[in-house]
Amino acid sequence: MSVKIMHFETHDVRFPTSLTGDGTDAMNTDCDYSSAYVSLYTNSDLVGHGMTFTIGRGNDIVCDTIKHVASRLVGKEIEPLFENMGKAWEHLVADSQLRWIGPEKGVVHIATGAVDNALWDLYAKSRKKPLWKLVVDMSPEELVKSAAFRYITDAITPEEALEMLKSKEATKQQREAKVCELGYPAYVTSAGWLGYSDEKVAKLTKEAVQAGFNHFKMKVGADRANDLRRGQIIRSIIDDPQYLPPGHTPHDPAGPELAGKNAGPTGAVLMIDANQVWDVREAIDYVKSLEPIKPWFIEEPTAPDDILGHAAIRRALKPHGIGVATGEHAHNRMVFKQLLQADAIDVCQIDSCRLAGVSEVLSVLLMAAKFGVPVCPHAGGVGLCEYVIHLSLIDYIAVSGTMERNVLEFVDHLHEHFLNPCSINSRGRYNVPSNPLEGYSIEMHKSSIAEYEWPHGSYWVKAEEAA
Ligand SMILES: [Mg+2]
Repeated sequence: MSVKIMHFETHDVRFPTSLTGDGTDAMNTDCDYSSAYVSLYTNSDLVGHGMTFTIGRGNDIVCDTIKHVASRLVGKEIEPLFENMGKAWEHLVADSQLRWIGPEKGVVHIATGAVDNALWDLYAKSRKKPLWKLVVDMSPEELVKSAAFRYITDAITPEEALEMLKSKEATKQQREAKVCELGYPAYVTSAGWLGYSDEKVAKLTKEAVQAGFNHFKMKVGADRANDLRRGQIIRSIIDDPQYLPPGHTPHDPAGPELAGKNAGPTGAVLMIDANQVWDVREAIDYVKSLEPIKPWFIEEPTAPDDILGHAAIRRALKPHGIGVATGEHAHNRMVFKQLLQADAIDVCQIDSCRLAGVSEVLSVLLMAAKFGVPVCPHAGGVGLCEYVIHLSLIDYIAVSGTMERNVLEFVDHLHEHFLNPCSINSRGRYNVPSNPLEGYSIEMHKSSIAEYEWPHGSYWVKAEEAA
């Protein structure tokens, strides 16, 4: 029997994180972490799940758009789609009428991300492998065929990508064994949300140090004096050996993994994130004044589309030893292409579902590897940590071949809603997803959907009654 995609379902799932200040920064002050969730059903037991992330209002608009995109897969046999995932991706973005309300940006693009991710989830499950394993087991030819090359061949051609992948092919197994044993390096953001009190920041930072983390990120940009004070609180904890966990392996601040990251005496690294609040000159002045807290990089200093602005900020901050990172709001591979071509970033922060799914992410991983820029995916949101561990494993094992200077964001929120939640080991690193049936690890518990679906889930009905 040929397996076909028969129908799909979407769910608008919203979590009331605005009540606790989780996810707060200088731009996003009242986030309700939300999932525009889609399930692709076949005429077999196979079901593919995907989602994209929003922070509340508008999640319904994304769900509506997902319906337009997912309907392009209904009636299709799955094997011809899996045979050429790059072509399947092109089919998803090729609706000429929908294209008008993008193209390849905004709601229509993140909706495509949810659907493409669901298709990859279906593919991985059909092969009984976690998604990362499906991709790293591909031949270089298959991987190249799975990526999206339209509009980026002036930065990387499929032939160049193939050569790069082939040069990494012989050592893939060693890297896979190494990362399965050690885990993938992570950093923690959830200590430094802007809406948290100093006491809460100090407490969470101490807990994060105890948990084995040595990279920490805090939100900045609402008030300079506050930022310096909070940064000094965090620095006073992460730089002080008394807070280190028992049996801690020392990190050498001058070693190859930390050189150039402004690591303190214990090897701890601090990053800062402004979530787009500044104009270019303001960003430069403001970040210079935060030099005393020794950040590795400033993330999203200005508008996410301003490629030359990022390049100017990077040039101005370079003498101060502070780098620039961005990408969580970079809406397609062409923005990443230009950021790389313009020398605008030290760190490339892909988002697993603002880019339109795995196929477009693969193109950015390939470009970043060619330009020698480390990829440190964005994961501040619901479901994003579950997704991105797969992408970083693909990057390390098959594409860039390195994880020593990379760190993958980790936020400790809402993992309990997933059937196969991500997890962190005692070294403060992500564990490698290993369940052969977990696909892209994004399936949500039906009970969580029933509770948090907007506006008729049991949580929201009760909240409405109480209001
Ligand atoms: Mg950010």
